[in-house]
Amino acid sequence: MKAFLDHVGIAVQDVPAALAFYRDTLGLEVEEAEEVASQHVRARFIPVGDSALELLEATSEQSAVARFVAKRGPGLHHVTLRVEDIHAALAHLKARGVRLVDDSPRQGAEGALVAFIHPSAAHGVLVELTQRPSSRPTLEVKSLAFGDLQLTTLHDGPFRLDGGAMFGVVPKALWGRKVPTDDRNRIQMAMRPLLVEADWGRMIIDCGAGDKMDRKSRDIYALDPDHGLGEALTAAGLSAESIDFALATHLHFDHFGAATVRRDGTLVPRFPNARYIIRGAEWEDATHPNERNRASYLQEDFVPLQPFGVIDFFDGDLTIKPGIRVERSGGHTPQHQIVYVQSGGRTAVFPSDIIPTTAHLQDAWVTGYDLFPLDSLAFKKRLIRDAIDREYLVFFEHDPHVAAGYIRERDGKRFVEAVL
Ligand SMILES: [Zn+2]
Ligand SMILES: [Zn+2]
Repeated sequence: MKAFLDHVGIAVQDVPAALAFYRDTLGLEVEEAEEVASQHVRARFIPVGDSALELLEATSEQSAVARFVAKRGPGLHHVTLRVEDIHAALAHLKARGVRLVDDSPRQGAEGALVAFIHPSAAHGVLVELTQRPSSRPTLEVKSLAFGDLQLTTLHDGPFRLDGGAMFGVVPKALWGRKVPTDDRNRIQMAMRPLLVEADWGRMIIDCGAGDKMDRKSRDIYALDPDHGLGEALTAAGLSAESIDFALATHLHFDHFGAATVRRDGTLVPRFPNARYIIRGAEWEDATHPNERNRASYLQEDFVPLQPFGVIDFFDGDLTIKPGIRVERSGGHTPQHQIVYVQSGGRTAVFPSDIIPTTAHLQDAWVTGYDLFPLDSLAFKKRLIRDAIDREYLVFFEHDPHVAAGYIRERDGKRFVEAVL
């Protein structure tokens, strides 16, 4: 069983005195108090590196923390270990006869699953196990009517990339507590193509990594081909044959790898009835990779499309179909483009790797993969401003939980109001 120290809970009686010590004397930063109504406690987190201290204050006599303080006085209350799979961890402990407080996990704060090991088993310490919600992405196929269009968020399963690479020059001290990493420093993400249904047909925007990778690569990126695009299309009542157009934001494997599939030893178009719409200059870059971008441009994802005559190349920013407009962002790759979807006076935007997750709302939080980060920054700054001011519905292609939402800003802080 692999476990990480998530936090150490400290039961506090005199909050001002505790703050005077931890905040003022030690000089640590104390986060705003969180009310955990179900437990009758108020919690204040103090980040220390990758883990934290948690000051616990009882808000009622019924609180376990109140009983703890009455019996033993303030002090160390519990140690929380973070595990990847809490069900597996509990099964492991049960099989070894460990005394548990919780036989099965229950809902903790912020969507986490938690379970306690009895202190008698852990040599006098109450041990909490927790599985953060982002250990498993939320992969649901959901639709909404958008003017005359129907928008459906699909998925090609979960995947993971190095956390440092995803946040570029931003230190882990700033993103690490919000976005947990696994034992290989990877963060959990998803691949979420967008399906647009209109009177002119069905268009899939990006299509995920597909299932051509070998075992080693699947392991590196934590891909799960058993829960990929095929499953999502079935959930939407569709199949690969139902797709009329496949539009690429760019040709990185996690965006357009599913464009081809291996059938009887040869690579063929995944969507047999589709036109593949690709920016010509992106194709040029992708088919002439260099040492820096070679690992992201896998030739077998797109080159096999060409002999089938299914690609429509274009250049410049234009309206591809009524309601579907592309705009080159550059930055991530020189020809990376975003897609605007407009109907009935509303605008949705699919910014692809310019805003890959809801943790990337700050202008300067640009990924380390970006070849021209200052171009990404300039483009993103304007895009996010517009998205907030004009209420664009924003799709987050790589977010593990939120497929789409509105970016809001309050007191200078940005957050997402989830819609899908
Ligand atoms: Zn990319
Ligand atoms: Zn990507």
